[in-house]
Amino acid sequence: MRIYILSSGKYGGRVVNNLVEHGMASNIVGMEDYPEDLPEFIDDFSKYIPQRLSPADLILSVGLSGDINMIVPEVARKTGAKSAIIPIYGPEQMPPGLQQEIIESAPDVRIVFPKPFCSLEPVGDAPIDEFATHFGKPVLFIKSDHFIKKVEVLRGAPCGSTDYIAKGLWSTPEGEAELTATHKLNNYPCNASTVKDHIVGDTNMHLASYQIKEAVKRALGFAVKSAVVDPETCNPSQCQEECIKHCPQVLIGLDTITLQEDGLNSHEKKAGIDPATCGYCEICIKECPLDAIEIKTDKFEL
Ligand code: SF4
Ligand code: SF4
Repeated sequence: MRIYILSSGKYGGRVVNNLVEHGMASNIVGMEDYPEDLPEFIDDFSKYIPQRLSPADLILSVGLSGDINMIVPEVARKTGAKSAIIPIYGPEQMPPGLQQEIIESAPDVRIVFPKPFCSLEPVGDAPIDEFATHFGKPVLFIKSDHFIKKVEVLRGAPCGSTDYIAKGLWSTPEGEAELTATHKLNNYPCNASTVKDHIVGDTNMHLASYQIKEAVKRALGFAVKSAVVDPETCNPSQCQEECIKHCPQVLIGLDTITLQEDGLNSHEKKAGIDPATCGYCEICIKECPLDAIEIKTDKFEL
């Protein structure tokens, strides 16, 4: 697969270095680096199109903020690429209107906007899926015996944070691994914004932490904390399913909260929360009008 990269700033550089460190150098057929201080609004972006472009299968736009991302469809057209990834790391970087404009200006290019980059998973598009096999939502293999003895990164965040976190998990007590992973992510120069993204009701930094926590939970086979619905109190006929509508993980495409048939009365559905993907942000707790949800600390087998 041939990848053409549009990069800006330290974050773009970090992603490129991480791809190279993981053996993707021969896949990178070209790269254009942009200054970070480009104007937010650009009338004529044609002057930013790279002069020399090589044929490519996938366009990766990393670290570019605002209107400059409008060059992606044109770069895709000129390189022949039919796939592009534009990760979103903050609300200011990619307003929804701009995202829509980019999609509409490239109807024959599959463009995905993972929010954040470490939430990327295969989408049924060959070049994007090939990339997402190696980079995106973290997947770990953990060997442990009360304490973590070995951690392997099966799929890592494109910025390299998963490798850093994996090293820091060695010797950690199993029950503390989720929290340790979050602290390690906070120590890493993660580019995800700490500004609340109003589309998902949470920050991209928090979303990034939910992804690494999920990787730890799945590798260990259990979660230590989760939002839990009281089936006696939950009554979807008396609410607007606010929990589902406001869960940030649901809003980036996960099935963290779903309505499930009540085991006792199959005619009734109740909200159910997946402890693997719950980041315990507490948003659903505040939104549920019937106070049917609480955070519990327990050993939740996955
Ligand atoms: S948990 Fe609350 S908001 Fe969600 S379906 Fe049940 S009653 Fe409605
Ligand atoms: S606490 Fe509630 S809103 Fe937050 S991630 Fe978990 S299920 Fe979703």
